[in-house]
Amino acid sequence: MLQHILDVLYPPTCVSCQKAGEWLCEDCLASIYVEQKTEKLQGFSSVTVCGHYANPILRRVLTTFKYRSAYCLREVLGAILKRFRHEYVSPWPWARESSMTITPVPTDQRHVRERGFDHAAVCADVVREILVPWGTRDELLERVKQVTAQAALPADERRQANMKNTFVAKKCVTTPVLLVDDILTTGSTIQEAARALQEKGIQDIHVFVFARGT
Ligand SMILES: [Zn+2]
Repeated sequence: MLQHILDVLYPPTCVSCQKAGEWLCEDCLASIYVEQKTEKLQGFSSVTVCGHYANPILRRVLTTFKYRSAYCLREVLGAILKRFRHEYVSPWPWARESSMTITPVPTDQRHVRERGFDHAAVCADVVREILVPWGTRDELLERVKQVTAQAALPADERRQANMKNTFVAKKCVTTPVLLVDDILTTGSTIQEAARALQEKGIQDIHVFVFARGT
């Protein structure tokens, strides 16, 4: 009922081409290139990337979701992952794991308050639902330091220093962990998150990100 009222007041229009009817129309969804490869990053069992941030539609979806508090795009993220699941022909890097804990790279609480929801937690929810339905959602990490926006910093080295001791692991699990983030750029954020997990003794860490930045 509430959804119906909201749809009347704010009818869905495509976030990319403005066509009425859906938050991301079929044509725009189809034009998002989904990659079918994994990357290597030291310290991780696997890194799986869904698309590229250079893709204007994927970028539009991710930035609108995050910076404009467009919670309605949750289902679009799900649709992107369903397409990804459908087109990803090789076995998942975590296919042989019988249990898995899915946890987000935690958002700065200031941003959660500003945006009204925790976009990283929602990303992790959607990844569990669509890609690892047998896995367990948990919040293993806590952000204990506010950092300067990574994009404002030039060199990788300074980004790494900026992130140092940003996260602590709140608890330990015995299952492999799937760490979820929206965008992977230099990798310094997920490496710092992994360091916190490793301090708790968690060694088997997989990564899933929606987009690879440059
Ligand atoms: Zn469209």
